Amino acid sequence: MNKADSERMAGILESMGYQQANEELQADLVLYNTCTIRDSAEQKVYSYLGRQAQRKKKNPHLKLVIAGCVAQQEGESLLRRVPEIDLVLGPQHTNRLGTLLEQVDSGQQVVATNELHILEDITSARRESNICAWVNVIYGCNERCTYCVVPSVRGKEQSRKPSSIRKEIEQLAQLGYREITLLGQNIDAYGRDLPGITKEGRRENTLTDLLEYIHDVKGIERIRFDALCP
Ligand code: SF4
Repeated sequence: MNKADSERMAGILESMGYQQANEELQADLVLYNTCTIRDSAEQKVYSYLGRQAQRKKKNPHLKLVIAGCVAQQEGESLLRRVPEIDLVLGPQHTNRLGTLLEQVDSGQQVVATNELHILEDITSARRESNICAWVNVIYGCNERCTYCVVPSVRGKEQSRKPSSIRKEIEQLAQLGYREITLLGQNIDAYGRDLPGITKEGRRENTLTDLLEYIHDVKGIERIRFDALCP
């Protein structure tokens, strides 16, 4: 899920005119997309941020963005720990990166971690593969498994509409993609938050209904889905 978010954010940055730097210690904008499932991953981010904060003292134009689950979990307290950060971006705000960076450009330090309805993705991701693509179908999770931080950082379940998902897959097929992996934190829950009951009283818009609805997109030869629960 984080890799898919990273691809979307890279796409947004490209559309804003940014190019990928070869070296993170030379980039004008550094964005860390973080994971909070394991403590070691979280600690690594603080050590990376420390190095960038030092750089920023000499180069005030450097922009520092921290995205992902550590950003969501720590929120504003990150700014107290590393005041050089320009933007704290929770996962639900991934698609808003461009707008939020404009606020940073106007001199603000921004924390975007409030719960919100996830906007339909209108940007093109910069995908690593030309054949396989990830497609988000549901964000968040409503379960509360005792060991898991996901519901606190990824928010409540929000399913995308079947028509939006199919449209994205059709566009990918036109671009030459042949394999799609549907993504969801708790993908079995797909559609629980969407309206729709059949005449027989069955819930519509289940994952099965979605698979039936998208299975025949011309050009797509394989559809997989990932259950991402830790
Ligand atoms: S993401 Fe999976 S493990 Fe975590 S609370 Fe939801 S169902 Fe449980």
